[in-house]
Amino acid sequence: SVQTKIQLITEDDITGILPQRRPDTHKGTYGKAFIIAGSPGMTGAAILASKAALRCGGGIVKVAVPQAQMDILENKSIEAISVSLEDLQGNKKEFIERLQTEDTVAIGPGCGQSDAFFDTLGTVINNTTVPIVIDADGLNVLAKNLNILKNSKAPCIITPHPGEMARLTGLSIEVINKERIKVTKDFSEKWGVITLLKGAATVIADPEGNVYINTTGNPGMATAGSGDVLTGMITGFLAQGISPIKATIIAAYLHGKAGDRGSVKLGQYSLMAGDIIKEIPCLIKEVL
Ligand code: AMP
Ligand code: MG
Repeated sequence: SVQTKIQLITEDDITGILPQRRPDTHKGTYGKAFIIAGSPGMTGAAILASKAALRCGGGIVKVAVPQAQMDILENKSIEAISVSLEDLQGNKKEFIERLQTEDTVAIGPGCGQSDAFFDTLGTVINNTTVPIVIDADGLNVLAKNLNILKNSKAPCIITPHPGEMARLTGLSIEVINKERIKVTKDFSEKWGVITLLKGAATVIADPEGNVYINTTGNPGMATAGSGDVLTGMITGFLAQGISPIKATIIAAYLHGKAGDRGSVKLGQYSLMAGDIIKEIPCLIKEVL
């Protein structure tokens, strides 16, 4: 059997990777991110993801939320642009046209698991060639029919926690946690995606069988919204044209490190997802 090459992600892998900002650039240079997130009761997922994407340097961040969530989103994430999810779902042609103008699409945080949302995921997967990040409820509905991934012409990044991975694979959470590397690598190879399996020692695998382990982060990050921040961070880096695997690695490392910094200040008991976002700016300045 072929040996798995496993790399630990270190600060050296991150430092100097992010491009410096040249003077002759504008927001378009740093890309357009489209995030489909939030639903009644879970608008925060959309807010956290959009802020994280902006803090990671994404030029323009648009967020599709249900009509009733648009005001809240714009109130709490004033730099983001809101788009009515119902309008997109009701006009597929317009939806597809919009998808083709974006540099990356993230889908899933706090979206719920309706049939309409499953259709929305299918529309995204079938109609874009730019990198797609699928997280949370995006994964929960993907588990209904993984074969829709086979239609994708886009690089896909999936970011399950062990519970979501259990739904995707049919394996138990116990087996997944015992065989974290094997399960992540096998899934990536089978479905042709980049898989980031969350939790202490996050595992990242690409379809070619490369495996990376991230050791930043701490149990203070086991708090609601923490994963939505990671999704936004990956999306912000992708918007800027950083390759899917690099964007995933950099985001995982910085997300964990931001959680570590936040936990030093606030304690692991009290850390909240929004506190992770606050640590992003200084960290990026250090690794640039
Ligand atoms: P989610 O479950 O989607 O909210 O994502 C939680 C995020 O926090 C992931 O990025 C996890 O890797 C991270 N996280 C949760 N618990 C721990 C832990 N015990 N150690 C390190 N990272 C953690
Ligand atoms: Mg999550």
